[in-house]
Amino acid sequence: MAPVVSRRTIELAGLAVPLIELTGSADGPLLTVIAGVHGCEYASMAGVRRWCRDLAGRDLRGRVRAVPVLNLPAFRSRAPFVVPEDGKNLNRCFPGVANGTLAERLAYDTFHQLIAGSDAYIDAHCGDIVEALQPFALYESGPAESRARDLANAYGLPYVIRQEAGPERAVAGTSSGAAAEAGIPAITAEAGGCGLVEEQAVAMHVAGLNRVLQVLGMADGQQGAAPSPTYLGRFLWLRCERAGWWEPVVTAGQHLTAGQLIGTVGTLDGAEVQETIKAPADCVVIFLTSSPAVSDDGLLIGLGAD
Ligand SMILES: [Zn+2]
Repeated sequence: MAPVVSRRTIELAGLAVPLIELTGSADGPLLTVIAGVHGCEYASMAGVRRWCRDLAGRDLRGRVRAVPVLNLPAFRSRAPFVVPEDGKNLNRCFPGVANGTLAERLAYDTFHQLIAGSDAYIDAHCGDIVEALQPFALYESGPAESRARDLANAYGLPYVIRQEAGPERAVAGTSSGAAAEAGIPAITAEAGGCGLVEEQAVAMHVAGLNRVLQVLGMADGQQGAAPSPTYLGRFLWLRCERAGWWEPVVTAGQHLTAGQLIGTVGTLDGAEVQETIKAPADCVVIFLTSSPAVSDDGLLIGLGAD
């Protein structure tokens, strides 16, 4: 029997955020899926929208809560990475601050009203407007780690990165990291990028979410088995020292050997190279800033290594 579908808005930090709830005809887990933590990551938003439409006609056990576009201020103003009102990256603010800035309050309300209490949590992302990306899933060490790894494998993306919780991790304050700390199996799933709605990336998100339903026992098999991923134990983010013109010579998904040239940052007049960036280890390019415009301490590239 098809699930009962409710489409409404939920108030998070004073914003009326679209929420789709699907309640199955039989008991089962509560799965929460969010896209649009970053406001211009369209392939992941498109994937969640399509998946919810398809799911409305399927047999479901348990309950799904899905938000296709969370960061409404960034979406509406086409602002990559941050909430425009406070300049903060929402995915560095979890689990949030009740009386903080807009990004901190949005993280707080999202965590307490949607993520907490879930049996599993998926945060769907892609590269932002100025990021090219090789699809991957990220999960954190911790008590729910083995189930998180099952979700990451099920999503079916070519790379799976495990991040050790703690001060040395490349990314802190993520929604999936906050969920992991609360003992909820959670992943960040990334496919797509550069502000595009590419069908291949959208389809990866839809297939990944369908396989997540299968491993949670919430729906019967519709999707074939996930291909085996390559596991990566380190996530290295390289930054430039000074602002300038970024000119990479590598592409997302490319394998690099230690010392290989990645690109340069030069002066805007084209006369001088300020910095030469090289691979610190044998690695694969997971994401790459595609815009030449980089700021002081600007993020250039994310690399995955063993
Ligand atoms: Zn993102």
